[in-house]
Amino acid sequence: MQCLEKLNASTKLKKRKKVPWGKREESNIENWEEIRCKIADVLIECETLKKNCDNCQAEKAVIRCTSCVQAFCFQCDINIHMNDPFHDRISYENGFGLPLSCCESLDENFAIQNQEKIIKFSYDCCTVCSSTLKEIVPTKESCVVLNIKGRFDINKYIYVCSSCGSKYDPFNLKCILKSNYWPGTPSSISLIIDVELFRMWDLLRKRSPGIAENCFLQSLGDYSKLNNRLKIENYLLRIMLSDNVH
Ligand SMILES: [Zn+2]
Ligand SMILES: [Zn+2]
Ligand SMILES: [Zn+2]
Repeated sequence: MQCLEKLNASTKLKKRKKVPWGKREESNIENWEEIRCKIADVLIECETLKKNCDNCQAEKAVIRCTSCVQAFCFQCDINIHMNDPFHDRISYENGFGLPLSCCESLDENFAIQNQEKIIKFSYDCCTVCSSTLKEIVPTKESCVVLNIKGRFDINKYIYVCSSCGSKYDPFNLKCILKSNYWPGTPSSISLIIDVELFRMWDLLRKRSPGIAENCFLQSLGDYSKLNNRLKIENYLLRIMLSDNVH
């Protein structure tokens, strides 16, 4: 009990002792000065690849993924990111960091190659035999995806039922809406927009009523280019700015 009273008394004393804003700011600056070197060391360490792949622990690490916060060998990078194209990855093979676009990967000689990338859509079961087992078969067609990280070019694909061989094209209105995307075009879907992007734009324009929609979209395009992805071209801007899309 006595201990508690002492603790209360000391807490009250501490509360009463107010440090002026100027002093607090001075001490903050000193603290930042103290950790400045540590921050630099950590950032330099982040730019240095580990020797071995974080996934298989056996092969040489050649790619760092800033989303997974891991380093991968060329094969693990392909396996892990095949169905996850929205991760920004950097190749360190030539001695400097080079951002890889979502449809690029490294081959066994560490040269950049084109890589099929897909995004998975909602799929319940085969409409013919009700089997849930299916195979994903990429097609030659591509589709542009816009989300809050900018533009990603992915491959279209079809689901093939593993039991009866029935084919199902998931790039249709129902499947896209059920997967939280919005179609950019009413038929032969070649552009889909993440619903989160509309939410972000809606919040932004309420906070900044003067902001122009095409400036927002161009900033997204700039961010895409920064990560070595394709820019948002004028035809995409026209589609996005059309009233039918909103
Ligand atoms: Zn590996
Ligand atoms: Zn990743
Ligand atoms: Zn089937």
